[in-house]
This record gives sequence, C-alpha cells and structure tokens, in this order.
Amino acid sequence: MADCLFCKIAQRELEADVVYETGAVLAFRDIAPVAPTHVLLIPKEHLASVADVTTAHGDVLVEMLAAMSSLAESENLTGGYRIVTNVGSDAGQSVNHLHWHLIGGRKMEWPPG
Ligand code: AMP
Repeated sequence: MADCLFCKIAQRELEADVVYETGAVLAFRDIAPVAPTHVLLIPKEHLASVADVTTAHGDVLVEMLAAMSSLAESENLTGGYRIVTNVGSDAGQSVNHLHWHLIGGRKMEWPPG
C-alpha cells in the first residue's frame, strides 16, 4: 500500500534490521526498543491491524504465531516474553500496518500503561 511505512520495509524500499523472513512475513528490530529484545513481526500483505483479520488470513496468522515462538527461542528469551499488538489510537497504534511486538529480556509489569 502506498505511503505505508511497513509495506516499504516489507518491499525492502526502506532499510530495517531484519531478523526473520519468509514469503509471507517479515520480522525486524524496533527502531526504538523498549526492552533488550524488541522485534516487530508483520505480514507482507497490508492489513491495517488485527481488526482487518478474517478467517481468510488463518494461514498467515498461524505462521506469525509460530514465527514469534521461534524468534523467542533464537533471542534466548528463556525467562518469558510478551507479544502485543495495538489496535487504534486509544491503544497507541502509531503504524497502521498489522504488527506484533515481541518484547523480552527484562522483567515486565501488568497491567501495561
Ligand atoms: P505501534 O505504536 O504499536 O503502532 O508500534 C509501532 C512501532 O514501530 C514502534 O514501536 C516504533 O518504534 C516502531 N517503528 C517505527 N518506525 C520504525 C522503523 N523505521 N523501523 C523499525 N521500527 C519502527
């Protein structure tokens, strides 16, 4: 999608620190990490958020969940980790392309702010 930051990263028009890629998904390090590990995982297909997900996206969603589990292992997040996706402005979504934050490497609190 034109003017979408993460579509441009997915299409390699913009640089990112890519840590994982398949035909359908891409993971790269967040530019402003909030923890020792902070990776963003996106579908290459443009979806604005999980609010756009339908049953037709089942395969890519399962692939993303499995990828996050693999990434947590390769990042050595043996103590646990958090996966988060923000939807809309109240939740703090700032990039309107579906992405999961994979955050770990430090102790976290609940509830989030
Ligand atoms: P959210 O606020 O949930 O939409 O998350 C967007 C995330 O994208 C934030 O954590 C930003 O730090 C991150 N971000 C924005 N631009 C870039 C970029 N060019 N490369 C990597 N991460 C980015």
